[in-house]
Amino acid sequence: MSKELQEALNQQVTNELYAAHLYLSMAAYFESLNLPGFANFMKVQHREELSHAMKIFDFINDRNGRVYLQAIKQPPVEFQSVQEVMEKALEHEKHVTEVIYKLYEMAQRQKDYAAHVLMEWFVEEQVEEEKLFTELLEHVKLVGNDGTGLLMLDARLAQRKDEEEGEEAES
Ligand code: MG
Repeated sequence: MSKELQEALNQQVTNELYAAHLYLSMAAYFESLNLPGFANFMKVQHREELSHAMKIFDFINDRNGRVYLQAIKQPPVEFQSVQEVMEKALEHEKHVTEVIYKLYEMAQRQKDYAAHVLMEWFVEEQVEEEKLFTELLEHVKLVGNDGTGLLMLDARLAQRKDEEEGEEAES
């Protein structure tokens, strides 16, 4: 594995850990609003991002590379509304997709087939992540200021569980 790819993958470990941190911060905000279902959704998402970080962590080590952990910046801690959280979450996932594409291109350019296969998994995963957050944002917009609708959505999000290895994403 090239030094350039190792550095880029190390950066991606940090990016995934930041995503985990961001979603945990969103979970804390939902807890403060007494929306346990939304908080549960974000806690599951937090753990999913940790598993993404570990997938790359393990890959670097499996390839005889070296993982160097970096500082994780503070995520936003205050939000104006449920909708704003969902907008920020979707925005973040779109950013992650861009970064994944760059890694994919790098693996391709360097003919690093193992990294290419790993990045293919992440490309597919990002389709699921963007779909998940787009749907949720649209549902939150539909509900608007209707408290009953929000509580119904909260009850549904309370059902979200951690995915088993290899299982399709579902909310
Ligand atoms: Mg991720």
